Amino acid sequence: MSLWGFLASVIPLDLLTGLKTTGKHLFARKATVQYPEQRLEPADRFRGMFGYSLERCNVCRACEKACPIGIIHIESHWEEYEVEGKKRKRQVIDRYDIDVKRCMFCNLCAEACPTEAVWLTTKTYEAAAYERNHALYFDKEKLMRWDGVKPFPGVKTPAEGGLPYFSLGGEKEEEQ
Ligand code: SF4
Ligand code: SF4
Repeated sequence: MSLWGFLASVIPLDLLTGLKTTGKHLFARKATVQYPEQRLEPADRFRGMFGYSLERCNVCRACEKACPIGIIHIESHWEEYEVEGKKRKRQVIDRYDIDVKRCMFCNLCAEACPTEAVWLTTKTYEAAAYERNHALYFDKEKLMRWDGVKPFPGVKTPAEGGLPYFSLGGEKEEEQ
């Protein structure tokens, strides 16, 4: 037996290698957080709970067409109104539903929307429910109020005036 082979057989080198790794991680910054007391802030472009703005929505249905699994349902009717004595028509939204439990958060609906009336960059992900069929099916009022959803600290619901994380000009929104 060579000298090195003899030394390797009496000194537990493998054990020392393992302990070196343990020692390195013992003093390193911890990666785990004590959730729910502590939360990691998601990245700016993290896709979470939907924001929806009834005010911004022009009922173009681009989001409905863009969704690859057909979970956005829109219904509307035409309404007449007058401007300076001239009759005009506008579309009024009756139904805007998203079956969030089936969503794969691909963001295609938000990318298709010309007015940023629907967005997923809300940093909000706490929407767990015991019963998902009703709780995770959102109509336009629920989408605005975020019923059953806990907004990420500092994030406003659409009903409170929350906006996409990046505004129309690509600037960061102050309140988020
Ligand atoms: S994010 Fe969800 S709702 Fe939007 S297009 Fe993708 S699957 Fe459809
Ligand atoms: S694409 Fe935007 S503006 Fe058009 S219907 Fe959908 S949410 Fe409304």
